[in-house]
Amino acid sequence: ADFPRERTAIVTGAASPRGIGRATAARLAADGWSVAVLDLDEAACRDVAARIADEHGVACLGIGADIRDRDAVRAAVDRVNGELPQLVGLVNNAGVSSPVPFLEVSEAEWHRVIDVNLHGTFHITQAAAKIMAERRLGRIVNISSTSAERGGGVYGRAAYSASKAALLGLSRTLARELGPYGITANSVAPGSIDTDIMGGRLTDERKAVLLKDLPVGRIGTVRDVAAVVAFLLSEHAGYLTGVTYDVNGGSHIA
Ligand code: NAD
Repeated sequence: ADFPRERTAIVTGAASPRGIGRATAARLAADGWSVAVLDLDEAACRDVAARIADEHGVACLGIGADIRDRDAVRAAVDRVNGELPQLVGLVNNAGVSSPVPFLEVSEAEWHRVIDVNLHGTFHITQAAAKIMAERRLGRIVNISSTSAERGGGVYGRAAYSASKAALLGLSRTLARELGPYGITANSVAPGSIDTDIMGGRLTDERKAVLLKDLPVGRIGTVRDVAAVVAFLLSEHAGYLTGVTYDVNGGSHIA
């Protein structure tokens, strides 16, 4: 199908003020996308959506929904479908990290992480993909992590790494299964990006240690990730599917 001039992308986890999701939502809006800002806090979502709409002159919608809640997610996707231009893009960015060493991981901690990062992603991807499939056009990007590729790391241990590795498999399978419906599915694996995900754990001291292993000589920014996601959602990326884009400054070179 033709790439419509007016189209919508859903970005999950997009209300975090310094987060990758919000930067991605803004970047997409700058590229002409209408954006649905989805996150846990409805008021925060509305606020972010209003600001982005204001700045970039596109229609935006802020919706509070917990991606673990299948019904809430379906209702949110239905609203997007009814109120914004054609749904073409989905950025699965919502996620939680887990610093707990494997030998100490509780059942509850394990499920907390997998429920959001994997099950939540499943819920919204299925709801959105059904709509994309009907129109024979879609772009899905799952935000994985360097942690999935190299076995844990800066932000996450086993539960996090496992959940993010699962997203790589999910993207590849979606690429195969949904290709015939005009839908591409890819992963973006960020390295150390300066956000609040670890609640201030990325101290100056920690940054100095990280820099030693970074060929490009700096910690990544949310804009570094947003630019790659925006490209993968764009019209120009139609022949890319099932791939993983490492956005890590060379900290992990596969
Ligand atoms: P962040 O904590 O700023 O943003 C994550 C957002 O997800 C938050 O706004 C949070 O409210 C939302 N969220 C959490 N659980 C949710 C749920 N159940 N339903 C809906 N929304 C939910 O963190 P960030 O660093 O911007 O992370 C964004 C994504 O990038 C995450 O998936 C993270 O794992 C991934 N990532 C981050 C880094 C990094 O270095 N910061 C590296 C690799 C991957």
